[in-house]
Amino acid sequence: MTAALSLGLARAAYDASFRYANERVQFKKPIGKFQAIQMKISTMATEIEASRLMVYNATRMIDRGEPCMKEASMAKYFASETACRAADEATRIFGSYGYSMEYPVQRFWRDTRFLLFGGGTSEILQVIIARELGLGK
Ligand SMILES: Cc1cc2nc3c(=O)[nH]c(=O)nc-3n(C[C@H](O)[C@H](O)[C@H](O)COP(=O)(O)OP(=O)(O)OC[C@H]3O[C@@H](n4cnc5c(N)ncnc54)[C@H](O)[C@@H]3O)c2cc1C
Repeated sequence: MTAALSLGLARAAYDASFRYANERVQFKKPIGKFQAIQMKISTMATEIEASRLMVYNATRMIDRGEPCMKEASMAKYFASETACRAADEATRIFGSYGYSMEYPVQRFWRDTRFLLFGGGTSEILQVIIARELGLGK
């Protein structure tokens, strides 16, 4: 559930960033024309796509009643870290507006911090994944 929540928050941060990159003009160009911004947006999109595939894979396994401790832990760990990175990049793309209450990205940044510990901290998930991989047996 928290992995799916992470996916939604990451997507919201991406959508807001994509829109703003097309709207905000600096040096007579939309900032989305600058490669530095394009790299941020393309990394966000790539990580969100990977998160989506991991979340869908884990939920498919749950639907089939298959054991999926490793896949669910990986999905939650990766999707929540992705959401935090996406929200962080969104605040950079928005510049000072990323800090302003007039725009939603400051809320995405705060809301994504919860994902790092709600439903299991990233550190504990890493321990579970290592155990599921058979490390230290
Ligand atoms: C808004 C909100 C809603 C919540 N909702 C729920 C809920 O509905 N149900 C529920 O059960 N809980 C809920 N929680 C609690 C949440 O699950 C816990 O905060 C989370 O499990 C971390 O526990 P802790 O805060 O006691 O941190 P701690 O366990 O004190 O961890 C502190 C730090 O130490 C690390 N750490 C601890 N033990 C180890 C270890 N063995 N190996 C490596 N690192 C370790 C952690 O990763 C973390 O970095 C909620 C929390 C919040 C803020």
